[in-house]
Amino acid sequence: MQILHGRPVADKVLAEVKAGVAALKQKTGVEPTLAVILVGEDPASQIYVRNKKRAADEVGIASRDFLFPQGCTQAELLDTIRRINADPALHGILLQLPLPKGMDEDQAVAAIAPQKDADGLHPMSLGNLLGGKPTAVPCTPAGCIEILDHYGIPIEGAEAVMVGRSRLVGKPLAQLLLARNATVTMCHTRTRDLAAHCRRADILCVAAGKPRVITGDMIKEGAVVIDVGVNRLDTGKLAGDVDFESASQRARAITPVPGGVGPMTIAMLMKNTLLAATRQLGAA
Ligand code: NAP
Repeated sequence: MQILHGRPVADKVLAEVKAGVAALKQKTGVEPTLAVILVGEDPASQIYVRNKKRAADEVGIASRDFLFPQGCTQAELLDTIRRINADPALHGILLQLPLPKGMDEDQAVAAIAPQKDADGLHPMSLGNLLGGKPTAVPCTPAGCIEILDHYGIPIEGAEAVMVGRSRLVGKPLAQLLLARNATVTMCHTRTRDLAAHCRRADILCVAAGKPRVITGDMIKEGAVVIDVGVNRLDTGKLAGDVDFESASQRARAITPVPGGVGPMTIAMLMKNTLLAATRQLGAA
């Protein structure tokens, strides 16, 4: 059984981005810059933002903070997004989600200029993915494909089963697998026999947000398992959506939690930011 570690894959992507950033700077004299918007004081969001900014710094992408206190209005947020959209010195926009309760996330994401959409969650980015001509691809699903490719796991023709259908992970990951010619089944809470679908999977991707909802008996012998889930247990430990112990008895390869898909998300955000800057600077 092979453990599909994400760190070496993320490091490879980050090294490529770093080289791309250096080349872009040399060609245009411009430093690619990411606008980082954080609303409120959610500790987890603060940690995510700090890690993203650190990664940006390491690959040579500058970041500019736009911090709003809890209780800022939707209008204030939208106004800032519009100002960033209009600023040619800012190439990518990271809007840290979730926004505080009561704010309209969909409206805020849709206000981002599509060409500056670093997270790939703008309706136009998602539409382009669906249309087969992706521009910015959502970071976590893109990272899952990067892991499969890095470890030489064939996608074409595979039975791929996606558990979860969120806009953030499940739907875009299913589209990416389909675009690579997998036969894709999508499962969710209304799926009648989840285990039966999972047992058909050559590639089983799980983003349900429920600790250990997938157990070894639901996995085909020799399957590849991508566990996107990150769940904090009462014990304080992190667990995936897949029960690693029993799954590893059946799978031929599996991503660990933590250390699997997790590191990929930030790396793909950096890649999206570089791509956005490259396009805006006409250097593609
Ligand atoms: P989400 O928005 O809560 O969506 C969960 C999806 O899973 C829904 O479509 C839901 O179905 C489905 N689901 C839930 N329980 C299920 C069950 N028992 N059987 C079948 N389907 C079930 O979550 P998300 O944003 O996609 O995130 C999923 C997980 O990935 C979370 O643990 C999150 O922390 C993690 N995550 C990790 C990263 C990373 O960087 N590693 C990034 C993003 C998310 P319905 O649609 O029917 O409700």
